Amino acid sequence: MLTFKELESQVAGGSIDTVLVCFVDMQGRLMGKRFHGGHFVGGAWEETHCCNYLLATDLEMGTPDGYASTSWERGYGDYVMKPDLSTLRLVPWLEGTALVLCDVLDHHTHAEVPHSPRAMLKRQVARVRALGFEPMMATELEFFLFEKGFDEIRKGGFQDLTPISGYNEDYHILQTTKEEHVMRPIRNHLWEAGLPIECTKGEAETGQEELNIKYAPAMDTAEYHSIAKHAIKEIAWQQGHAATFLPKWHHDKVGSSSHVHQSLWADGKPAFHDSDDALGMSDLMKSYMAGLLKYAPDYTYFMAPYINSYKRFMKGTFAPTRIIWSVDNRTAGYRLCGEGSKAIRVECRIPGSDMNPYLAMAGMLAAGLAGIEEGLELQPATVGDVYQGDTGLIPGDLGAARTALHGSDMLRAAMGDDVVDHYARAAEVEIEEFARVVTDWEVARGFERA
Ligand code: ADP
Repeated sequence: MLTFKELESQVAGGSIDTVLVCFVDMQGRLMGKRFHGGHFVGGAWEETHCCNYLLATDLEMGTPDGYASTSWERGYGDYVMKPDLSTLRLVPWLEGTALVLCDVLDHHTHAEVPHSPRAMLKRQVARVRALGFEPMMATELEFFLFEKGFDEIRKGGFQDLTPISGYNEDYHILQTTKEEHVMRPIRNHLWEAGLPIECTKGEAETGQEELNIKYAPAMDTAEYHSIAKHAIKEIAWQQGHAATFLPKWHHDKVGSSSHVHQSLWADGKPAFHDSDDALGMSDLMKSYMAGLLKYAPDYTYFMAPYINSYKRFMKGTFAPTRIIWSVDNRTAGYRLCGEGSKAIRVECRIPGSDMNPYLAMAGMLAAGLAGIEEGLELQPATVGDVYQGDTGLIPGDLGAARTALHGSDMLRAAMGDDVVDHYARAAEVEIEEFARVVTDWEVARGFERA
């Protein structure tokens, strides 16, 4: 990490000349501007501005209608981007470059924009802290690497998608050695940027990779995830390859997930642990998990925000299909990890690699808190192959998840009506666009035979 004073002296000495001033958008991307270092330390560190459509757009930077906060009618004015200097860090994979994350504020009142992802997670973390606990979380990043780079693949119409490896490379050291020109700089540059990188490994499909980052307070975890995802794409691009976080880039391939490990701590000790319990789970953990399970449909949208996200939930692929918990069992939506030890935690396996970590963790914390506040009881764990059975299914598509989000009294109370309505609209925008577009699949299937 960099202090502001260190940045000032490095800018004066010429070793840093560029500061990326960014915020995390609804899709989890870094958006912002590249400042000259001299201008940033000379005053822009106090605030800068951006068009407010950035928190009401889609992946393609469209201007969809139907958002209460932002519209042509309201003139698409400005938001304030307020750098949070505690997030200042080097970007070691780019020459002479530092990065800072911003809060997004209303231009007139300077209040945080309630539907900005950072504000949404902060709000839920504050609620957990008010009860005397610190949420400690970790996200796993799965993605695919391809032989070709982004631009070549796009110019070829996304047809030639050849993964970087020729076989399933789960835990393989030989195959992953062949990918070290991408993966080693990812680990080392992120470590130098202040991210507590644990490891990378090959995952269970051709060209699939995983990055693990050490668990941390929830806001840090979301920041690590967003920066790491961005870095993976940039470093892959520097090496001539594409990295995709699309959860399901081919129906015959395993999908990519982003599991979230969760535990609450008090006074530096794990509050989820109770050595007197058979599995080592405290009552607090049980009611938190009961909340996670009860309200899973409500926050599924935040774990699976696109049409494609739902194609991952297939039996027998290690991706979950049911809202059920189990002990160290990778077929369930919620897996108890570290049972009987201080490392006890719950891993939510529903989120796809396309999740926005701020939104997913905000939804999970809101649900867990509701479980604690309602004093919910946790049902016994399910055993065996959880794919067998059809109760407690994860919402099957984006429409079902949108309906559950929109109808969630729990999330409306925890996040505010304006925030829930904003994201329910974002889900509708995806559904409307997909309904309009004719896909390759429809043409190939019906062109001659329909
Ligand atoms: P998997 O077997 O699902 O791939 P990993 O071992 O790769 O799991 O990931 C474990 C993750 O859990 C790591 O990121 C680690 O930092 C995190 N973790 C360990 N202990 C805790 C805890 N008490 N609370 C939250 N996360 C934790």
